[in-house]
Amino acid sequence: MDIINILPDSVANQIAAGEVVDRPASAVKELLENALDAGASKIQLIVKDAGRTLIQVIDNGCGMSDSDARLCFERHATSKIHKADDLFAIHTMGFRGEALASIAAIAQVELKTRQHDNELGTQINIEGCDIKSQESCSCPAGTSLAIKNLFFNVPARRNFLKKDSVELSHIEEIFKRVALINYHTDYTFHSNGRVLYDLHGGNFAERISQIFGHSYRERLYPVEENTDIVKIHGYVSKPEFVRKSRGEQYLFVNHRFIKHPALSAAVEKAYAELIPDRHYPSYFLHLEVDPSRIDINIHPTKTEVKFIDEHALFAILRAATKKALGQFSLATELEFNPINEVDFAPAPSGYIPQQPTVNYNPDYNPFQSTAPKAAPSGHAHSSSYGNQPKNSQWTSFFDLKKESDAETTPAPSPTQLTLDQLSTPQSAPASPCMQVKNQFIVSVMPSGLLIVDQHAAHERIIYERLCNRHQCANAQQLLFPVNCQFSPADADIFNELLPDLKQYGFEIGSIGQTTFVVTATPPDISDSELQQIFDQMLVEYKSAMIQKFADRHQCLCRSIARHTAVKVGTVLQQAEMQQLVADLFCCQMPSMSPSGQKTMTIVQPENLLN
Ligand code: ADP
Ligand code: MG
Repeated sequence: MDIINILPDSVANQIAAGEVVDRPASAVKELLENALDAGASKIQLIVKDAGRTLIQVIDNGCGMSDSDARLCFERHATSKIHKADDLFAIHTMGFRGEALASIAAIAQVELKTRQHDNELGTQINIEGCDIKSQESCSCPAGTSLAIKNLFFNVPARRNFLKKDSVELSHIEEIFKRVALINYHTDYTFHSNGRVLYDLHGGNFAERISQIFGHSYRERLYPVEENTDIVKIHGYVSKPEFVRKSRGEQYLFVNHRFIKHPALSAAVEKAYAELIPDRHYPSYFLHLEVDPSRIDINIHPTKTEVKFIDEHALFAILRAATKKALGQFSLATELEFNPINEVDFAPAPSGYIPQQPTVNYNPDYNPFQSTAPKAAPSGHAHSSSYGNQPKNSQWTSFFDLKKESDAETTPAPSPTQLTLDQLSTPQSAPASPCMQVKNQFIVSVMPSGLLIVDQHAAHERIIYERLCNRHQCANAQQLLFPVNCQFSPADADIFNELLPDLKQYGFEIGSIGQTTFVVTATPPDISDSELQQIFDQMLVEYKSAMIQKFADRHQCLCRSIARHTAVKVGTVLQQAEMQQLVADLFCCQMPSMSPSGQKTMTIVQPENLLN
């Protein structure tokens, strides 16, 4: 006996509808995306009862012909792809041709559409896949699609809908995702006759502040990066505006909102030592990627995306965010031109790197008074902090120094001055420092009054030195070696950490199972507190490893920095204060301590008496 049936279209569409439209918000998404694909510059969204009774989208896009208006409700009816190859070059939001078919299977739909060249449009009424009527009508150019009584024939789904307030907030979220990244378009959004949003086309920053409020403008830093693999444009929160919950986190790829835990982690990782634990940044980031390098087809609602270059993307996104945070925290406070010279593009496959050659001038005689012609080699000056400028800039920088040595003193450009200020500690503010309450260092800078928190600043300095593993070169031998002792379990862990500690500048040997002898430390670290520093470090290391919030290296450096930084209450000498300020300005991220505390602020003269 034969038992296999081919399901009628109406049933097949209802089943498919379950995937595409599971709640009113997903129908809203499909309609908004269709309007954008139709090239609309104005889109109206109208909902009643959180979309249960009505979802209507009216656009001024290209509209449809009479026959397309009928065809669009067929399954796999799409104007967006023609052949399988097109799947690898998708620039539209839709392409599967199932949304309207699915929606028509589970609602009463009224479509009015007119192409701009036609005088008359078409109106179609369709209900549960049955076309009830089709006739000519006069209507504005573009398309209006109204979905009435969603799930009228699928009571199970209807009963699963949540309270109106919940469904409306889902719709609102979808609306925000679409409107945020398609910021050139005008939108209005009415719910039960009330205007919720009235947005005018503008740029990304304007759209963010239209949706989330004007205060966002002051809360965000721009992120901008252009590589062969990805173009990144967007905004991330300043570290001081992070929140305890994941708030506004919007990641878009090719104008499409996506969820991608790994890429989100890349952004969050850039904040690792800038913000307190379990705090989260907001971000609005748009990545533009060659469509053939992504697969958006893996989920029907298309918020998940697979990238071919995921690892590279991760690294680029993290570096770009970090760069924005580092550069702008300094830039806004010190008002210097950021150096946009980081080239993140990984080498193409098959590229064989060449060993760099060192240019030097064999005829160079440092005692000659005339400046030599060839550029000196880069090793004459090594800056461990800040973005390394490109060769040409180094060259001109050195030329500048040489010339000034030869007493011709040309006027340096602002970038060169900044480089000079930032890479040599001696050039930090020469103005005297004052200590306030044995906690703050106050000094005068060209841009205002500088106030530095001595502990937080020192923590930042030590942290970066440890991270950059500079200390190994200048470990300081102790006059009297110090013994440290741990419980057997801790001693095992400590033993594992010895290679790391050695890199930071500690020299430690073991005597027996649980006792260690420290013979040298990094210069910033006082020998009297070594046992406490290591005890704390072990506690923090163990708990960090359990929570997996940081990597081992970061965690050790953070802990050591926190416990060795000069304490609040310590009296500092003039020279010490000046050195501390100078060292702080050599840091990559000078404005925050690794534990997320502000290290300094500059009060501008106009704000002094406010
Ligand atoms: P897809 O968007 O995946 O192509 P849909 O079912 O959403 O599938 O839409 C089917 C087709 O109907 C689209 O390809 C498009 O040609 C047409 N269409 C849908 N909505 C609109 C609209 N607002 N304006 C113009 N054409 C539209
Ligand atoms: Mg569509």
